[in-house]
Amino acid sequence: MDINIFTLIGELIVIAVIILAIFIIITLILGKTLLKTRKLLFPRLLLFTLDLTYPVIKKLLILFKKDDLLIDRISIDLRNRMNHNTFKTLDSKDVVIILPHCLRAQKCPAVLGNSGLECVECGKCSIGVFKIICDKKGIGLYVVPGSTFIKQVIKQRPIKGAIGVACPIDLNNMMTSLSQFTTQGVGLLKDGCINTLVNEDDVIEILNIPKPVTHYTKEEIRNGDNAFH
Ligand code: SF4
Repeated sequence: MDINIFTLIGELIVIAVIILAIFIIITLILGKTLLKTRKLLFPRLLLFTLDLTYPVIKKLLILFKKDDLLIDRISIDLRNRMNHNTFKTLDSKDVVIILPHCLRAQKCPAVLGNSGLECVECGKCSIGVFKIICDKKGIGLYVVPGSTFIKQVIKQRPIKGAIGVACPIDLNNMMTSLSQFTTQGVGLLKDGCINTLVNEDDVIEILNIPKPVTHYTKEEIRNGDNAFH
């Protein structure tokens, strides 16, 4: 039987496209179910199809002028939920939080050091609140201007878990690149280069989780003895 090489290649391409389309449909159905109903269905399957189809879905959403951050939110939510139980078993000393430079206040007096911005807890932004909690618990806090600093953080300090705060695209990239660790992530409420916003309660809730479990609140930190300088 003669096999036409071009026909064979054509058939293989069609099969690959059909498989990709099936993976995209699975990712979107399971991902939207996760975001809408908070139900985590077939998480391993979703993670597998998501990792394979992320760039294609991203391009398709942009092409059709749809909300392209949808795929980042699915990925962040999925990783948060899959990692949550393991994160609860970690000791605070094995955890770091990585905050974006843009979260600082416009008149931030901190200077940039080898490990990122060195917050002096002036109280003008959320970073100071998180730093006080981190210092109390022994969680490493890093305020970084870019992904190259994250690599430095990992080199400087052996870790088992990482909390990320960033805009959805950067946060998803961060959580994906740190997938060898147990990650948790909180997306920014407002994007930009400076004076961005994050839900402080959401971040503090995660900072309270690593052992020893704590119950800090932003009010307690802002009004406490160790309040800002
Ligand atoms: S709390 Fe820290 S990061 Fe925020 S403005 Fe003050 S010194 Fe800068």
